[in-house]
Amino acid sequence: MGIFLGNQKKRFHEIIIPREVVEEIIQIARQSHPLEFMAMLEGKISDGILRIEGLVFLPGETSNHSAVMNLFMMPMTTGTVGSVHSHPIPSATPSSEDLYFFSKNGLFHLIIASPYIEESIVGYDTFGDVINYKID
Ligand SMILES: [Zn+2]
Repeated sequence: MGIFLGNQKKRFHEIIIPREVVEEIIQIARQSHPLEFMAMLEGKISDGILRIEGLVFLPGETSNHSAVMNLFMMPMTTGTVGSVHSHPIPSATPSSEDLYFFSKNGLFHLIIASPYIEESIVGYDTFGDVINYKID
């Protein structure tokens, strides 16, 4: 308790994304194409499981890559655990901007690449390493 609580809350060994959130991500990515969309991920960590609960949009959610990244260089709001954004190309590899952003903004990040299907969504940790998640 107390002084270490902040760190303990960040520990998790499993990530679960509800199917409806995955479907929302796919739908928005398709609607935004050929622009990128970006949103923050809301979620909670409980019993070592990070459960994503929904998306949080900020103004100007579709734009070019740099503008979106600049917009999101702001403090995390309560309950946000990471981010999701789309790549209009068939590669979910994070750019150098993405990696910098991941390191500053939360615990878990998703990139959905064209053609915007479940299999083209890749999860990353704060270091930009691929991290597995379950859809439930
Ligand atoms: Zn990117």
